[in-house]
Amino acid sequence: MIDIVKLLEELVAIPSMNSMGSGRAGFEFTESNLADFLVSLLRKNGIDCEGFEAAPGRRNVAGLVDVGVEKTLMLEAHLDTVPVDNMEIGPFKPTVSGNRLYGRGSCDTKASLAVFFGTAVNLLLSKRKLKYNLLLLGTCDEEYGFTGAQAAVQRGIRADFGIIGEPTRLRIVRAHKGVMRWKVKASGKASHSAYPELGENAIYTMAEAVNRIALYASRLRSESPHELLGSPSLSVGVIRGGHTVNIVPDSCTIEIDRRLIPGEAKESVMDAVASILRGLPGIEVEEPYLVAPSVNVAPSSEIVSILSTAVKDVLGDVVVEGANYATDAGVFNSAGLPCVVFGPGDIADAHTSRESVELTQVEAATRVIERLLC
Ligand SMILES: [Zn+2]
Repeated sequence: MIDIVKLLEELVAIPSMNSMGSGRAGFEFTESNLADFLVSLLRKNGIDCEGFEAAPGRRNVAGLVDVGVEKTLMLEAHLDTVPVDNMEIGPFKPTVSGNRLYGRGSCDTKASLAVFFGTAVNLLLSKRKLKYNLLLLGTCDEEYGFTGAQAAVQRGIRADFGIIGEPTRLRIVRAHKGVMRWKVKASGKASHSAYPELGENAIYTMAEAVNRIALYASRLRSESPHELLGSPSLSVGVIRGGHTVNIVPDSCTIEIDRRLIPGEAKESVMDAVASILRGLPGIEVEEPYLVAPSVNVAPSSEIVSILSTAVKDVLGDVVVEGANYATDAGVFNSAGLPCVVFGPGDIADAHTSRESVELTQVEAATRVIERLLC
């Protein structure tokens, strides 16, 4: 039998950092070693399993437990973690102290991986009868581009419903916001700063653009809110422009982060921004480099209902809520596979310099998944 906490320690000890588009590479900046470990874990225990490339050097892992029943449940968690710069603990040296296990990914989201994969193996080993066929999926690149989940959908994975493992404190997240990110560029004309009238200052143009966008962002806050998620939002997070102080700048770029509520579409969001920037000279709105859809699973849906029952049986109570962050669930829901988000750990501990997860939550999540499946 697999000890879930031991398995979690093994997963944390295998680096699987996402380079977050920085181009950093090396064995610590790939999910492939973790995918290989999970493939051999499942195969060793008789589960049909494969690793497959989602992008060059980026691997997913998919295992299938077919017990011959009607419905298939997907248990999915991402393999990648954020980088470890500035961590105050040994990121890949899992350490248990009191009720917590420390290390990069312990909370986000190797605890869910350990619970999903470990519990599936244990139930098979103990010859318990499962209520659902199981699709066990580990995805790469959730933290940056969601390409692992997208590749799984393109590969044609099939399930009736699913649970996406993320640190929700064992609450069921049935709705979350989507996210879009893109760049806006202003082009001008360079000149000597002593003769600014000979140039066109791209920073001035961008300043006007940013003012208009800020007004639009404040209007968004008063748009009719979603019942669980509130209003959509927008933030300009990066601005870069100019070369040196004695040259009138010929270029300036900003990056926009836009959080979407259910019902908002990429096209209408882009149209709105294009229309508020209309008339500004030399402005170019690029296509988004990231689009992660929002999630809105009906409270009456089967996955919310069966998981709620399991959580209530184990914890005595269940909370169903919404979240502002985006997950792989958006990709699967958009493809017609209803998925909620659920797992041990607190999002407030994710990505931190002392990332950790409560072991009592790992244990409770394990019991919830057992209860759900048997
Ligand atoms: Zn995560």
